[in-house]
Amino acid sequence: MTQLPKDGLGIYVHVPYCIRKCRYCDFVSFERPPADEYFDELAEDVKRAGNALGYGTEYYVDTLFFGGGTPSLANARQLGKVLDALRGSFRIRDTEMTIEVNPETVTPEKAAELKALGFNRISMGVQSLNDEVLKAMGRVHSAEKARQAYRILRDAGFGNINLDLIFGAPGQDLETWQETLSEVLEMRPEHVSFYSLQLEEGTPLYKDYTADRVDLPSWEENRSMYHYAADALKSTGYHHYEVSNAALPGFECRHNLKYWNMQPYLGFGVSAHSFVNGCRGESDYSVGGCRGTADNLKDAPVSGPQSAEGRGIFGLEPESKADLKGDFIFTKLRLTDGFALSDYSGMFGSDFRQEFGPELKTLLDEGLLELSGGTLRFTAKGLDNTNPVMERLIGAVAERPGSAETRRL
Ligand code: SF4
Repeated sequence: MTQLPKDGLGIYVHVPYCIRKCRYCDFVSFERPPADEYFDELAEDVKRAGNALGYGTEYYVDTLFFGGGTPSLANARQLGKVLDALRGSFRIRDTEMTIEVNPETVTPEKAAELKALGFNRISMGVQSLNDEVLKAMGRVHSAEKARQAYRILRDAGFGNINLDLIFGAPGQDLETWQETLSEVLEMRPEHVSFYSLQLEEGTPLYKDYTADRVDLPSWEENRSMYHYAADALKSTGYHHYEVSNAALPGFECRHNLKYWNMQPYLGFGVSAHSFVNGCRGESDYSVGGCRGTADNLKDAPVSGPQSAEGRGIFGLEPESKADLKGDFIFTKLRLTDGFALSDYSGMFGSDFRQEFGPELKTLLDEGLLELSGGTLRFTAKGLDNTNPVMERLIGAVAERPGSAETRRL
């Protein structure tokens, strides 16, 4: 029986509350004050999950990520309750502990609280340092508030800060993007995430765009912004290690690397995902009442991830081989170093070149992917077309006979 690895588990905790919904946001978040009951449920779920795993505090968690929503809206007692449960149920030591913060919530007292709770990495949603752009996106904070928040966090002693930025936003052009970026580079955060604005159906921004009430930068402008950022970050010492992420050397986000490297993680909270040994699941919480990760875990065999009947790990569902191959391509290709074809054969027991021969050749000929030294990665041109390229490869897997067979990693 395959053993669940005792080292290197990631844990994600979702906190679904925000001061106000941003105009582009379709994340699971609600405009209401954080409810004590939600954190009580989370803590209980964490404890029950620890019991279900049967490993107790032997289980080593090397990354912990509180995301949202706006986790920094929660008070110290609410966050502390969940952290106590985590510390009681898992072995948390030398762990990268990230919390997402909104600049509007950052005060010296809040920063001191987060530090005292043990968080050692901050991810702050700045998005832009231009007030017009922030307003068009419906952000609650101003550019000046974001600058102040950054200084407060530094003064509180945080030495590992990520700033989230968005380009391709309404009212933004290459010049305003360059201004934001050059100010951010002067601030010198350890990590920068730079995402293209996604128009998500049903959001206020989507409705305004489809009704011609708002303009967005063209595709060409959007791509100029992306390449400008990637080049500026690289030329100032950042490692552009993932399509939309760059870090000073040694500050790559260990938690997110788990997603991109298909390493195991458990998610707690509304709509949080878990992925362990080729099995996935989503917790089903409602705010104030939940069926959580522990419910998925409760029938867990003590010694390993698969029951005698071959059920998925702890009630999580095993993915089909085709889906796992799709995940592999979709996650690993996002890393700018790409992946070694030998990793693919090691995981799936088949030869990538043989399996993807025609599709691979076409994508190489089109200059979207490059293959050198047995490693496959995006070219600069490919970075402008990541989703279509990955979909072409993944589509090729889905079409193969026998691809629905299940297999665990
Ligand atoms: S702060 Fe983040 S999670 Fe909250 S509404 Fe804005 S984008 Fe969504």
